[in-house]
Amino acid sequence: MNDKSPEDIVQRYNRLIGIARDLASTVDLDILLKKIIQTACELTDAEDASILLYDEKKNQLFFRAATNTEDLKKMADLVVPAQSIAGWVALNRQPVIVPDVHQDNRWFSNVGEKLGFQTRSIIAAPMVARDNLIGVLETLNKQHVTFNEEDLDILQALAAQAAVAIENTRLFEQSDLVSELVHELRTPLASINAITYLLSRRELTDSQRISLAQTIQEEVKRLSQMTTIFLDLARLESGRMKFELFDFDPRLLVNECCNITAPRAKERGIQIHVNCPDEIPMIQADRDKIKQVILNLLSNAIKYNRRNGSIAISLQPEDANLSLAIEDTGIGIPPESIHQLFSKYYRGKVSEKVTPGAGLGLYISKRIIENHNGSIEVQSTVNSGTTFTVRLPLKSKPDSVKE
Ligand code: ADP
Repeated sequence: MNDKSPEDIVQRYNRLIGIARDLASTVDLDILLKKIIQTACELTDAEDASILLYDEKKNQLFFRAATNTEDLKKMADLVVPAQSIAGWVALNRQPVIVPDVHQDNRWFSNVGEKLGFQTRSIIAAPMVARDNLIGVLETLNKQHVTFNEEDLDILQALAAQAAVAIENTRLFEQSDLVSELVHELRTPLASINAITYLLSRRELTDSQRISLAQTIQEEVKRLSQMTTIFLDLARLESGRMKFELFDFDPRLLVNECCNITAPRAKERGIQIHVNCPDEIPMIQADRDKIKQVILNLLSNAIKYNRRNGSIAISLQPEDANLSLAIEDTGIGIPPESIHQLFSKYYRGKVSEKVTPGAGLGLYISKRIIENHNGSIEVQSTVNSGTTFTVRLPLKSKPDSVKE
């Protein structure tokens, strides 16, 4: 036995602490797994290490990374039986030391044969994050001596960190928010960059310069709108969007929205009409959020309208609800696209060409309306026009009202 001195053990734990931040900040799964197996080998003086991930749907463990092969295909073909050592670790969520695999009837020799690798001894620890089984981390063949309890302890500590880091990469992969944001911000940034380069040229006339400066202004406005939209999205997705209830007159709110969008409507020669009965009840809802929804629907009705078209906004009480319909005379939406309209990042094929946008307006609007226990519907005819109808309870009880 070649037990480590207390200094060595402290050193090993210091190394583990040092690696924790690195693991936590690695968002690429393949790179992360490589770091984990290399660290596992180093900390337990092992010849090799491997990671098996747990596939919840198939209720199966599969090899995902090993220091002795880069051949993912070969590994993927290896189904790990539940009665194997790794299977036992996963099932019991317990670590294990196997000093001589040939003496253990759980030993599953198929792996070594397939990968051309001789295994003598194994230590393995379950990777569990927030009570979810992520997989199993194992190291093979202690160099010169046999594995001991300290090796197992440190492997367990590493496995716990690894589990959280693997879960993080999955969350990161699932949420394309960051990459989408970066993608959306890049376009206006690239255009500003090109314009500033152009602006420095002497041969430009004054009017060309003014026009370029205006384009910068527009791009900056777009950047600012994008950041607001993405902030909303991040709040919605993390459940941090708070709703504040106010009693307000919906007609005044609609008029306010018409005034805000009037300049853009005028640019395109679009007339906006509001139809509202004389008596309209007050409603209780988050005024700013409802305003955001109306502005979004109204600006879509302008963007996707034809030149010199029109928009009709109708307000109508309906039992315990208020119905608000925004009808335009625009390009319409093909029937096969209707079901996608409210999906995240959905943009119609035509809109891609006509006007910039993130495809988030309707997604966010729907979430806001549903949070008020209301509904949003659409009816459309291609080349004729579209009507979005929002139904809001006169008194809403949003799920997350601000304290
Ligand atoms: P964006 O306008 O940024 O693309 P939205 O979520 O507001 O994002 O809209 C998603 C898509 O729905 C648009 O790209 C467009 O194809 C379609 N759409 C929305 N409103 C209308 C409308 N009034 N008329 C026609 N198409 C519309």
